[in-house]
Amino acid sequence: MARPARPAPALAPAGEAPLAALPGVGPRVAEKFAARGLTTLQDLWFQLPRQYEDRTALTPIRALQPGVPAQVEGVVEAVERGFRYRPVLRVALGDDSRATLLLRFFHFRAAQAAQFAPGVRVRCYGTPRAGAHGLEMVHPSYRLLGDGEAPLGERLDPVYPAIEGIGPASLRRLIGLALDRLPDEDALELLPRDWLAALRLPPLRSALLTVHRPPRDADVAALLAGTHPAQRRLALEELLAHHLSLRRQRIALQRHRAPALDGDGALLRRLRAALPFPLTGAQQRVLAEIEHDLAQPRPMLRLVQGDVGSGKTVVAALAAMRAVERGMQAALMAPTELLAEQHLHTLRHWLEPLGVRVAWLAGKVTGKARAAALAEVASGAAQVVVGTHALMQEGVVFRDLALAIVDEQHRFGVHQRLALRDKGAAGERVPHQLVMTATPIPRTLAMAAYADLDVSALDELPPGRTPVQTVALSAERRPELIERIRAACAEGRQAYWVCTLIDDSDEVSAQAAQGTFESLSTALPGLRVGLVHGRMKAAEKQATMRAFKDGALDLLVATTVIEVGVDVPNASLMIIENAERLGLAQLHQLRGRVGRGSAASTCVLLYQPPLSALARQRLETMRTTSDGFVIAEKDLELRGPGELLGTRQTGLAAFRVADLARDAALLPQVRALADRLLAEAPDVADRIVQRWVGGAVRYASA
Ligand code: ADP
Ligand code: MG
Repeated sequence: MARPARPAPALAPAGEAPLAALPGVGPRVAEKFAARGLTTLQDLWFQLPRQYEDRTALTPIRALQPGVPAQVEGVVEAVERGFRYRPVLRVALGDDSRATLLLRFFHFRAAQAAQFAPGVRVRCYGTPRAGAHGLEMVHPSYRLLGDGEAPLGERLDPVYPAIEGIGPASLRRLIGLALDRLPDEDALELLPRDWLAALRLPPLRSALLTVHRPPRDADVAALLAGTHPAQRRLALEELLAHHLSLRRQRIALQRHRAPALDGDGALLRRLRAALPFPLTGAQQRVLAEIEHDLAQPRPMLRLVQGDVGSGKTVVAALAAMRAVERGMQAALMAPTELLAEQHLHTLRHWLEPLGVRVAWLAGKVTGKARAAALAEVASGAAQVVVGTHALMQEGVVFRDLALAIVDEQHRFGVHQRLALRDKGAAGERVPHQLVMTATPIPRTLAMAAYADLDVSALDELPPGRTPVQTVALSAERRPELIERIRAACAEGRQAYWVCTLIDDSDEVSAQAAQGTFESLSTALPGLRVGLVHGRMKAAEKQATMRAFKDGALDLLVATTVIEVGVDVPNASLMIIENAERLGLAQLHQLRGRVGRGSAASTCVLLYQPPLSALARQRLETMRTTSDGFVIAEKDLELRGPGELLGTRQTGLAAFRVADLARDAALLPQVRALADRLLAEAPDVADRIVQRWVGGAVRYASA
């Protein structure tokens, strides 16, 4: 590849220097930095401002706008020290624009208060807001000016993320000192020059200096929006670092071996023939992708993204047959006992007629039953093992685990997936992994989040489902719903009523589940009503969910705990209260609980008016589409990626500069650049990862 002009040194030595090398950083300060993972000069270079303050100009007081930060200069017109609940200092400031701004301080020392005397010139910076007597600034930063000239700031002032125990001024000073030791451009640069030139992005050194010390003529609006070329340059390198880190994990995984499950597929075909339905096109395609991977002597790591109800379970069961026909084992792990139990019933129903033994391991399996299950798992008599986290516990030993399947993987951490994999590890050999999720991620994000996985999309629902009709209703129309529930249940159907909070004492005006349960029980005397919420004991919760599943309850009042995978095909009505509070992904998951049978189903989104513009858009999206991928794209647009991808899943939310929604257009470049570096300069790739992700490569051997 076109290397940087000079061969890069093995490590930029200045960057590796400990923070203690800076004047003013003793052991105590170093410790405070270390608590935030900052230990070297380089860490401070990459500790980027989260905001800027513009002190390069003065705003006339008359031109101030509420909520818009500004710098003003004026003369003290009046001072008042008062005591209303707590001491308060009020300073009225006037300027040539003949307007007055009130400065308000609640924490102040006597000496400080005494500085403000009528006639004194003050320059201050803050965010004005509307007060009782015009605009005011609460605790602005300020300084008193003498008679002479007081030059304005030369450039925007960076505002750094706070670090406990280090004041903002010291932080700014120390980062400044670290920046003074930035090496020259060639020593710092890791990206190929031709690439940067083609993208019209600056070299790293100048990008860092621009972002930390924006020149006076910098495009302030772009900097504040995070779209300045200097920021895009940094975002590119950061995205590249994360992408490379995931890719390296994948490469590490590929070095392992896995059993090639390349039998003739007869058992799988027998199961397929015995199913009461033909596979959808998407199921066939995804199954073929999985079978192809399983036949290789390298471990598969494949994610199946499929909307709720797209039929992931049967794909998992069919894949498991590939292990069983080779005399090996498959395990299926689900996040809740109820869900795991549902899988157990489904799999036993399908597999036992084929002579395949399915064992069960969950927290509540104890004593003799547990000992028996463990023995079956260890001897290999159990060909398929279904369970919860209990599968990963000590004492669980597989004879020969060839395929580890994790359902609803967003509920698990990466670590748990790996723990299950490690159950099947033997020397260099690891089992194949199949992870399934009903939380679709937009394609742009999938590339960043799952660079270490292959992704299959089950993007087609089985036929015969009647789409769920979704309506949005103002909470005032709640009484009509009582009738609707009565009518649905009179036809032998079941209904969900979902509340967003569980306790009346919560200051937010959400309807509490307990209260709703009581009022609905009263309003619907003929119906059997159940209640589940997060503060109930697990066993109690499960018992109620099971009663609902078995048809022993007509109406289930629930908080969002019912979100995950429970299948009650007879439920055809769902009411979601305060739907405006929930995000799109969550609404979509909840709605997926209905429309699982052949009856026409309805989802009612009850909202508390007035709706914010954002909430209106969300409800509108829910009303007009049921496609999980479309909803995910919309969610990304409305919320940004931080909330879509929990850190639990990927660690991606912890970006410093990059923002996946804003910088999505960079991702194809990131991928191409990663390909090139991995092929031509793996040492440079390592240094980029080290620089941005560093010791935080938590899943090093995934
Ligand atoms: P999810 O993808 O949400 O886990 P499930 O695997 O629970 O979905 O499947 C939902 C329902 O659809 C189940 O009752 C399952 O038996 C059924 N199903 C799966 N595939 C098909 C198909 N190809 N045709 C008809 N029904 C199917
Ligand atoms: Mg499922």
